[in-house]
Amino acid sequence: MNEIKKKILSLKNERNALILAHYYQPLPVQDISDAVGDSFALAKLAQKAEQDTIILCGVRFMAESAKILCPGKTVYLPSESAGCPMADMVTPEDVLELKRRYPDAAVVCYVNSSAAVKAVSDICCTSSSAEKIVRSIPNRQIIFVPDKNLGAYVAKKVPEKEIILFDGFCPIHDAVSLSDAAAAKQALPDAKLLAHPECRPEVLSQADYIGSTAGILDYARSSSAQKFIVGTETGVCEILKRELPGKTIVPVKENFVCPDMKKTSLEDVLACLEGRRNPIELPENELLGARASLERMVDIE
Ligand code: SF4
Repeated sequence: MNEIKKKILSLKNERNALILAHYYQPLPVQDISDAVGDSFALAKLAQKAEQDTIILCGVRFMAESAKILCPGKTVYLPSESAGCPMADMVTPEDVLELKRRYPDAAVVCYVNSSAAVKAVSDICCTSSSAEKIVRSIPNRQIIFVPDKNLGAYVAKKVPEKEIILFDGFCPIHDAVSLSDAAAAKQALPDAKLLAHPECRPEVLSQADYIGSTAGILDYARSSSAQKFIVGTETGVCEILKRELPGKTIVPVKENFVCPDMKKTSLEDVLACLEGRRNPIELPENELLGARASLERMVDIE
């Protein structure tokens, strides 16, 4: 084991810290983590953990979600500049303006959003719970922020609701085109295309399976199929290639990489353990408002 990994593991024990990593994190970061998962699964793990220092290797909204669920714990985001361009596309003012325009609508907010946006929303959702959350709401009109692709996917599944889409999107998933999907399928005709609902509707229309990152991993792990085209960030491909060496696993397009997710280094993780990073702090009103939106989701999930 190299020097930095040894230091991280020994300091982690000394400080009684829990290291959590998202599936899109670099593999060396995943390898020194106590658990790897989807963003909200990580926040729930942070909440349940006996440790009161959490190092969340991901992007800012993920560390914020952990802080919202366990405000008494110290939560670090190792790479302080790691943000999510989709989360940054919507502001609380945008949500408040939509509420003014559609006073009868409820606001459903994808967890890939800031604490401030969650705080002014009625309820949160994950990519796997979005359909169930939307169905559970009595209002016919639903404002869905920020991801128009996930929102459109849900709108198709729940036609009885009028979904008002916000013009946000994940620049990484939205960059996959129909021709990328068609070319990948042509190159590997007997492969299953597994796509994340942050992809565009025309890409999803080509998919054999649509689901969250964890859902895509589970599908590939349990399927008897031998070939998979992965329609989500390349981290998922890397995990599957390592776990399923006998199977053919290819990305739907080259360079399917979220640069913010790749910012975390082992040096950043060590810096958190050595107290050279600032923990996540949130204003009380954001913390309480966002917590209420997340808890409403958890009650329904
Ligand atoms: S993959 Fe997309 S949604 Fe996820 S962190 Fe990167 S930009 Fe945000």
